[in-house]
Amino acid sequence: MRREFTRAQKVAMIKRAMDGAGRILCEGCSLNITGKAIEFDHIIPEALVIDKSVGLEISDGRVLGRDCCHRRPGGKTTTDLADIAEAKRREAKHFGIRAGQRLRGPGFSPSQPQRSASRPLSKPAAWRRDED
Ligand SMILES: [Zn+2]
Repeated sequence: MRREFTRAQKVAMIKRAMDGAGRILCEGCSLNITGKAIEFDHIIPEALVIDKSVGLEISDGRVLGRDCCHRRPGGKTTTDLADIAEAKRREAKHFGIRAGQRLRGPGFSPSQPQRSASRPLSKPAAWRRDED
């Protein structure tokens, strides 16, 4: 279960991100993001946190501008996704699961010849064979 910051924590984080003039500065790049879309970034991506019984602290998060830092290509979310994928690859390797390995099952049997009233049968139907 993904942990989220509480409303009070978000307020405290915004206060922390404010400069003396009351402007909100992005905690990633210091851009003035007052009035812009802001997001509360988990510094350690939630997908990589194993023990989620520990509560989040405001030191676990950063106030980021959505457009300057959080969702920008190469920004926090995209590098997080690469980290998460890498962690999953390592975990899969640890358990001996190789990429491209298929599950071995019985598969599907070849389909029966089509029987329909409007088309002639190209092969004799299986149930007719016993009559010969
Ligand atoms: Zn930024």
